[in-house]
Amino acid sequence: MMRFAMLGSGSKGNATLIEHDGTRILVDCGFQLRETEARLLRLGVEPASLAAILVTHEHGDHLGGVGRLARKHRVPVYMTYGTHRAWKDPDVPHLIRFSPHQRFEIGGLAIEPYPVPHDAGEPCQYVLRAGARKIGILSDAGHISSHMREMLADCDALTLECNHDPQLLRDGPYHASLKLRVGGDRGHLSNAQAAGLLGGYALARLQHLVLTHLSEVNNRPELALAAVRAVIGDELPGLRCADQELGLDWCEVV
Ligand SMILES: [Zn+2]
Ligand SMILES: [Zn+2]
Repeated sequence: MMRFAMLGSGSKGNATLIEHDGTRILVDCGFQLRETEARLLRLGVEPASLAAILVTHEHGDHLGGVGRLARKHRVPVYMTYGTHRAWKDPDVPHLIRFSPHQRFEIGGLAIEPYPVPHDAGEPCQYVLRAGARKIGILSDAGHISSHMREMLADCDALTLECNHDPQLLRDGPYHASLKLRVGGDRGHLSNAQAAGLLGGYALARLQHLVLTHLSEVNNRPELALAAVRAVIGDELPGLRCADQELGLDWCEVV
């Protein structure tokens, strides 16, 4: 059985836990050390039991807490060469670098990184497989490439960025340059862009669809959920939004 959970999701910090057969992997850590430890314990996870931290890119809401967590609990850190070059805090006991098309294994989990368009050094996202089960992770992408579409097909669980509602972004308080960045081709996915990814898929296998990285300023959970339901219908029982403070409780992939 695979399962996953989130310590939190949004521009103030992201971290996703994946567990299979005793192997626990954290994808990103954008929280301070104490906050991370508290949120891990909330999910019943001892920090030192982590087998790895996989990093998507160097922005603070993903990488900000990785260095101290890795040093204190001696957790190996995995990231692309380009993310490593951009990292200000790279002094960790065990660092593994890879190209974003390079697959590898940790415990019984197959890790498949894939590159995404985002304004960072060499950003990637991940697919994790155990046996026939597949979890896809996608956050922080300005648009969806055909390669991303292929990588995320036939997931049993998918965590999907729904960053903003374009109208709230346009009418909201952000400076014009930040609006352009967020809404741009190397920024973040809107609700409609995320829903558009799902529109191309047969979703027969999908048990969990978690909407992530919602902007607290430019989005609301009901808007993200409505945009997705408009494409996939009301049928999926495992559809929900992850929360910045509460994260997401364990979801089992059977
Ligand atoms: Zn980012
Ligand atoms: Zn982010």
